[in-house]
Amino acid sequence: MQKFPFETESLKKWFLQQARQLPWRGNPTPYAVWVSEVMLQQTQVAVVKDYYLRWMARFPTIQALADASLDQVLKMWEGLGYYSRARNLHAAARFLVERHGGQLPSDRDALLEVKGLGPYTIGAILSFAFHKRAAAVDGNVIRVLSRYFAIQEDVQKTTTLKTIWKIAETILPESEPWVVVEGLIELGASVCKRQAQCWECPLQNGCLSFSQGIQDELPKKGKKMEITVLCRDVFVIEHQGSLLLKKGDQGKVMADLYEFPYIERKLQKRFPFDFDACKVKDLPQVDHSFTRYRVKLHPTLWRAVEKMEIPDHEWISLSDMDQRPFSSGHKKILKGLQVP
Ligand code: SF4
Repeated sequence: MQKFPFETESLKKWFLQQARQLPWRGNPTPYAVWVSEVMLQQTQVAVVKDYYLRWMARFPTIQALADASLDQVLKMWEGLGYYSRARNLHAAARFLVERHGGQLPSDRDALLEVKGLGPYTIGAILSFAFHKRAAAVDGNVIRVLSRYFAIQEDVQKTTTLKTIWKIAETILPESEPWVVVEGLIELGASVCKRQAQCWECPLQNGCLSFSQGIQDELPKKGKKMEITVLCRDVFVIEHQGSLLLKKGDQGKVMADLYEFPYIERKLQKRFPFDFDACKVKDLPQVDHSFTRYRVKLHPTLWRAVEKMEIPDHEWISLSDMDQRPFSSGHKKILKGLQVP
């Protein structure tokens, strides 16, 4: 097997001295590692901390998570985005209760059967919780290794990623490999960031891109994600203390989350239902982002003359709103809402 000379001991020493105190690091049970790693995908550590603590207080075990309803789970996730992560955690908890006695298995093949677990999360669980010699490659590790070994290929290509995974596995020592795995992630998050802070890096001596002065050019990435801007007219419709809401369709980004009815602004702006309602006022515009979308929401408040039943919609009383999981944009509308 090809050798990749790497300063393992320097990284370990640095990590043991510098590691941030994070709520999930104190007692890295398989469940704690799983939940924290899923939350950390696409989300900053500072944001995740509070969500993690609230989640673990509400669902302290896989069994407790499995016993909860999907609405309760999504409510705890409200605002974190990428809601399929919460739906998968919930479905996976039920699977684990049914098939594995409410525990995460310590075997890679068994973990592959768990919904929502990809190579990174499986590697993290095997490494941090079970202390196995397993790599876990996320964006931080890609950045560190592509710079350390001066990898010039596009890191979005499968072949490049395979190479980086291979390197990450090869450099793991027999003794305490999990310290190196977590150290790489920590280094990428705090030192080898987009703007590399090489002057405080424990890997500086062996880092090829540093010695060549090309660290800011790496990692190389091909196509950037295209951003789509959406403008929506949102109809907040009230009738005697209830608001009309719609749950996101299955299979869509906002599945199972509540939103006010809306139409895309490119369509003709008009009241979208076949019942009488009068407009009360314009509400402040709300901007929010999800996946590759930037959305401008233009809400208006309406008062319905009668409470018509609308297919796929629900009238929900204002006092029950707190129990329902909302998408972030529509949550902002709800928060600023004062029904006269
Ligand atoms: S020396 Fe600089 S580029 Fe190399 S791993 Fe450290 S921070 Fe990253």
